[in-house]
Amino acid sequence: MNVVIVGAGLAGPLLAQGLRGAGIDVELYEREAADQPSQGYRIHFGPEGDLALRECLPPDLYDQVLATAGKRGSGVRVLDPQLRVVQEMLVPPSATEEETGRHLTLDRLTLRQILLTGIDVHHGASFQRYELLDDGRVRVFFANGAVADADLLVAADGTHSRIRAQLLPDAEVVETGLSEVFGKTPLTGQARALTPAAALDGFCTVVGADGRFMPLAAHQYTSGGEDYLMWVVVAPPAMFPVDLPAADKAVLQEVAAELVADWHPDLSALVRLGDPNSVHTTTVRTAKPLPHWETGPVTLVGDAIHTMVPAGIGAAVALRDAALLCRRVTERTGSLLDAVRAYETEMLDYGFAAVELSQRRGSSGKAPGSATP
Ligand SMILES: Cc1cc2nc3c(=O)[nH]c(=O)nc-3n(C[C@H](O)[C@H](O)[C@H](O)COP(=O)(O)OP(=O)(O)OC[C@H]3O[C@@H](n4cnc5c(N)ncnc54)[C@H](O)[C@@H]3O)c2cc1C
Repeated sequence: MNVVIVGAGLAGPLLAQGLRGAGIDVELYEREAADQPSQGYRIHFGPEGDLALRECLPPDLYDQVLATAGKRGSGVRVLDPQLRVVQEMLVPPSATEEETGRHLTLDRLTLRQILLTGIDVHHGASFQRYELLDDGRVRVFFANGAVADADLLVAADGTHSRIRAQLLPDAEVVETGLSEVFGKTPLTGQARALTPAAALDGFCTVVGADGRFMPLAAHQYTSGGEDYLMWVVVAPPAMFPVDLPAADKAVLQEVAAELVADWHPDLSALVRLGDPNSVHTTTVRTAKPLPHWETGPVTLVGDAIHTMVPAGIGAAVALRDAALLCRRVTERTGSLLDAVRAYETEMLDYGFAAVELSQRRGSSGKAPGSATP
């Protein structure tokens, strides 16, 4: 059998690793060119992400993940705009994390490079449409003219999934009324001195009274690498004075700095010290729950099916999908469709529970559980 995966973000490459390790013929397609710089923000995984990585990666690649992880902080804090701690949740390491999974903080770009080790990605291949074939297989068409036939097509193409749009035209992904500008500031001596202690020792969110909030967390390598501070300025779109998607990176950075200029001065100073190339903007979106569809040779993983408000959960759930689908397919005793159906049933359950949890935790930045250290 062969599997075509569309999307080389996080879930797609992990699934490719797992299937390849089990001897299954797998092809990974990605719309971005190979030399396109990916977003390299700090990402946190709870235990389910760690367990998924362990399950699908060869041991040497899993060891690389651990070697490039950031230092673990002591907890999660909410700060007021003058950087006073107003809520704190300490998260001590679990004595059983060897078995039950670790909390990991990783650089997304580094993680992605590790996940793609040894995988030949078809870059510059933007999915356009698929056709179901009479023999139960699926034919996939890409904008660059590439065509691929597969027993199973997996959509790992993220929040704006075109595969979801074809498979599930009624599935809704809605805006939550928040936009964000995010970037990285190298932790030079000057930046380190300006960084709130809570962001050097875990994850913190500065929360204003008017809908603005600003998550901050340092990524400090345990074994070499350039430490940085990840910052995210979040607010209703009307509070940003420019059309964010149309603005260039320098404008985005200045707009983000200005939006928090009436808070503690260190915050806008940290934004201005950021690397302009690292600055991006997104609109916060969340998927609406949907009933299980009739299973076929096309399925979905990660943000393609259950995109959620950023709250430190989405990536781990995407990796869990990859590991679960891999397990159901490779350990199946019945048909491929039965295995995919079993995956989808389980995934829809925990995936949309995570969507709901993220919505509660991440919409205001106020809950101390809005991320983990
Ligand atoms: C600033 C920020 C911080 C975050 N922090 C965290 C965190 O700490 N913890 C956490 O759990 N989550 C976090 N998230 C969310 C997390 O990044 C996502 O949930 C995760 O990346 C989803 O993985 P995925 O593989 O499903 O999709 P993605 O990583 O979005 O990958 C989708 C891939 O598909 C490709 N693609 C899209 N369309 C096509 C097409 N038509 N044809 C071919 N390829 C296509 C894209 O180029 C991309 O490479 C954060 C997100 C942001 C923006």
